[in-house]
Amino acid sequence: MLDKTAEHIVDRAIDGKAPTRDEMLTLMQIDAGSAEAAYVRWGAEVLGRRASGGQGQIYAQIGLDATPCPENCAFCSLAARNTPNKGRAEVPDDEVAHYASVFDEANVHLISLMATAAYGFDHFLRVVTAVRAAIGDDMPLMANIGDITTEQAHLLKATGVQAFYHAHRLSEGVITSIAPKRRLATISAVQEAGLALMTAVEPVYLGVSLEDIADRMLEVISQKPYCSGVGVLTAVPGTAMEREIPYTRRQAAHFACIMRLVAGTSIPFGTGCGNVVWADAGTNPRGRDLSTDPDFLRRDVRRLRKELVREGWEVPKRPLPQWFGAGEVEFAQTR
Ligand code: SF4
Repeated sequence: MLDKTAEHIVDRAIDGKAPTRDEMLTLMQIDAGSAEAAYVRWGAEVLGRRASGGQGQIYAQIGLDATPCPENCAFCSLAARNTPNKGRAEVPDDEVAHYASVFDEANVHLISLMATAAYGFDHFLRVVTAVRAAIGDDMPLMANIGDITTEQAHLLKATGVQAFYHAHRLSEGVITSIAPKRRLATISAVQEAGLALMTAVEPVYLGVSLEDIADRMLEVISQKPYCSGVGVLTAVPGTAMEREIPYTRRQAAHFACIMRLVAGTSIPFGTGCGNVVWADAGTNPRGRDLSTDPDFLRRDVRRLRKELVREGWEVPKRPLPQWFGAGEVEFAQTR
């Protein structure tokens, strides 16, 4: 029989009453393989389908460089402290534009351009211009780069960027060299400029308390991102965090479901309901080798589309019209 406390919290969340912080902590201590956790998962999916109108999304990410990054995050294979590579290493701009056109033709729903904090901002703007010329006018672009000012956020918007990924990470300032207030200032800057925010509670690992994870979930929900989730630590061999123990994927998924119960329908995508999948090209900070073969990238997007459909999501042919001002869901959180 289901534990009544968990059942009651989930039922109330479905009726629009978000769990309190204490209730979040109660749910977080449930065994992720239990019947109660399955009920939490069901509740999160009900809310996630309601929030997204039952739509699934395929996002593509292109890593622009592998230059040693001065921000030195302990978990990152591209951090200067973690890499024997001492020189600049950038994917040529025309290759980036080519990957973007392949993803555009494969009908993904957003393209993210990711660069280390060592990548020049003016160079990034030039790449955005080249990519914009290579993709459809209806394809949203997301920047995933280092901290920026409000002025730079406005420049990104004017150059053709619609969204920005940025996380105020767990243990920020301890496992990274970045003061938390710098991360939060960037999030304010991008929202001030009218860019939609994607963010996450990351990296979750056993060295972080449940209270800290719950508090970060509440912070993220208050930032009103259009897409979010819980990112488990990838303990990359050779990095300063290779010996840290990540939560299991099942446990991290359980946390994401609890976050969805609290967020309700306020976050359209991700966050415990499995309606966002990713295709990757270029460099990445987790030490994985990525394929650069266009045929592989096309096949990968087709595979992801089938996966979403099999899970019962409606997958639109092209990006949602809301990105460019039409439709009902407001993505950009202008203040
Ligand atoms: S996670 Fe990002 S900011 Fe941190 S070292 Fe890696 S590339 Fe730099």
